[in-house]
Amino acid sequence: MPPKGRIAVDELFCKGCGLCVENCPQKVLALSPVRINAKGYHPAEQVGDGCTACAICATICPDAAITVFRFKKEAAV
Ligand code: SF4
Ligand code: SF4
Repeated sequence: MPPKGRIAVDELFCKGCGLCVENCPQKVLALSPVRINAKGYHPAEQVGDGCTACAICATICPDAAITVFRFKKEAAV
């Protein structure tokens, strides 16, 4: 099944709490092992292609750091 969406994390607001990582049903999020934001946290990032655009991560994020993008369906030919 092709991915239905993707997410973007505003690293300035992410505090690396991991709530989005723990609650993503598709397990496509992780805290970056290498990047550190201006506040000194490892920010969340998308690491896999199976995002369904369910928006659970954006809803659960206490800092509203996640934006969800839903892909448009291809028109039938
Ligand atoms: S929108 Fe849903 S599937 Fe996509 S990263 Fe967030 S919780 Fe996971
Ligand atoms: S829930 Fe929000 S603040 Fe916590 S790791 Fe995910 S994006 Fe960062």
